Amino acid sequence: MIQGILRKGISGSIIGRAHQAARKGFANSSRSFDTTSVSILSAAALMVTTGAGYIILWNKKQDDGDDDDDTTDVINWSGTHKVTIANKNYWEPESIEDVERIVKDCHKRGQSLRPIGSSLSPNGIALNGNGMISMANMDKVLKIDTEKKTITVEAGIPVRLVVEALRPHNLTLPNLASIAEQQMGGFTQIGAHGTGMAVAPVDEYVTKLKIVTPGRGTIELSKEKDGRLFELARVALGLLGVVVEITMECMSAHLLVEHTFVLTRKEAISRKDQLLKEHKHTRFMWIPYTDAVIVVTNDPIDQDTPHNVSASGTDEEKKKPLTDLLQELCIENGQEFSSDDAKGMGFGELRDTLLAFAPLDVTHVKRCNKAEANFWKSNEGYRTLPSDELLQFDCGGQQWVYEVCFPSGTLENNDNSDTTFMEVLLQKIEEKNIPAHSPIEQRWSCGTSSPMSPAAGTAESLYTWVGVINYLPSDDPQQRKDITKLFNTDYTDLVRHIGRPLKAVSHWAKLEEPTSVWKAVELKSLYLERFPITEFNVARGIYDPNNILSNPLLDLVLGKPIPHDQE
Ligand SMILES: Cc1cc2nc3c(=O)[nH]c(=O)nc-3n(C[C@H](O)[C@H](O)[C@H](O)COP(=O)(O)OP(=O)(O)OC[C@H]3O[C@@H](n4cnc5c(N)ncnc54)[C@H](O)[C@@H]3O)c2cc1C
Repeated sequence: MIQGILRKGISGSIIGRAHQAARKGFANSSRSFDTTSVSILSAAALMVTTGAGYIILWNKKQDDGDDDDDTTDVINWSGTHKVTIANKNYWEPESIEDVERIVKDCHKRGQSLRPIGSSLSPNGIALNGNGMISMANMDKVLKIDTEKKTITVEAGIPVRLVVEALRPHNLTLPNLASIAEQQMGGFTQIGAHGTGMAVAPVDEYVTKLKIVTPGRGTIELSKEKDGRLFELARVALGLLGVVVEITMECMSAHLLVEHTFVLTRKEAISRKDQLLKEHKHTRFMWIPYTDAVIVVTNDPIDQDTPHNVSASGTDEEKKKPLTDLLQELCIENGQEFSSDDAKGMGFGELRDTLLAFAPLDVTHVKRCNKAEANFWKSNEGYRTLPSDELLQFDCGGQQWVYEVCFPSGTLENNDNSDTTFMEVLLQKIEEKNIPAHSPIEQRWSCGTSSPMSPAAGTAESLYTWVGVINYLPSDDPQQRKDITKLFNTDYTDLVRHIGRPLKAVSHWAKLEEPTSVWKAVELKSLYLERFPITEFNVARGIYDPNNILSNPLLDLVLGKPIPHDQE
């Protein structure tokens, strides 16, 4: 039997279509997971189309009838991290009592038990081949308090279902990441963020937690009563216990008007302060090797205010820069081009198909990036939708992503390290001819009171988040290996090097294992400067003294729990 994984590429998804395209000769190779080596389970196998246009199979139990099989492959969304685990060490509780029993037993035996959510994290931070506890079956809404505007849920519920449950009450979540398939446990434990200079990462909106801990059993923590411990537990990477219940602040449901437009780099830099101050949510997408910066702003709009909708032009016209390039590439490579197939592809799929021709060839990448900049120019305009729909967006296909976060002054006085960082980064990418895929995304948040968040700080402090990306547009093993090598050495080294003086640390879900001893040393010294690691490890010593909740990556970065012998 095989336990839950989260993946994309179920038939009918864009991956299915990319296969078709490949068969017809669009690209040199197709893309999908190797479903022979990774089995999929999930009873309630919830298939959903995300904002990104992908179909995701949920991490939830399903009996595949293969009882002889006694191991499970668990893989993250990007297919970049995988562990094989004995089924006897993979638990899927259905109640708090189940969790309590499992945690108690594993604690006694010193058995690894890493909490896993939807396994979306690009670095597979939830994985541990020696033992995992999936929260997918604990997915209920427990209470919606319309007066206090809070929602209490079981930690395994996906964010998307929380948003749906709130809709009839005219409520919504105050902040979202670009997708909503994460479980509330993973979403908050990792400290996910959206964008907006006065909008905190999602953990800041958590008001109560119920956690089953190995060392001290079940504990309930709240903002009012538990101060620092509560704050530490909000972003704890699953290291203080298995979160079973979460209460989060909500806000009234509202519409947002989204404005998408393209600026030059110079314009983006000179208008940044004004854009951040004037708009509730602002993000920049820098396109390497072009002078284009895509700006997307979102602002609440009165339900009754008339508004413009969308740029003019059909979907086909808007995608023309991408489909034209695809046609050119097919001709150049002696491959068959079908305009019907090209028309059927979404934006992300088209980009993957284009890149798949030569994802590491910088001349080719420049052509793809130029087509993407033109695509955005033909997509300038406005649209209005509920906030929980607009704050999600297309993140593209399987990818390596490295996202850093660093302080950028205050809401009042931006110190401009955000744009200086971008200028230097783009200049170095272009000097070194790095085949940097598009976009490099820049977002902002204010500080959160969770000390283990990369954006730990006051509500007046400003943080910027910058994510570089290289897609994995094919399942050709050699191509994936080459992209992986380039990304995890040259590209991320560059970002780290530029970010070091700014104390830029990685998003917890995007922190990869250092590739050398020296890089590990550097990373540890930076993390000691940025996070209260000793304090956190003392808390781990109390709540998980046998270190059953961790994994090798976190042991390397944070060290082990510090034993604590006082009651
Ligand atoms: C396409 C894509 C787009 C993304 N966009 C964004 C974005 O816009 N902003 C952003 O911040 N992030 C983004 N991410 C990262 C993503 O938000 C996080 O990886 C995600 O929130 C993790 O949720 P998960 O349920 O998949 O958790 P997992 O990846 O399974 O786990 C994440 C962490 O949470 C812990 N955990 C999970 N559940 C529990 C629990 N019940 N109790 C204790 N610990 C638990 C795990 O141990 C692990 O440390 C994106 C990822 C992808 C793949």
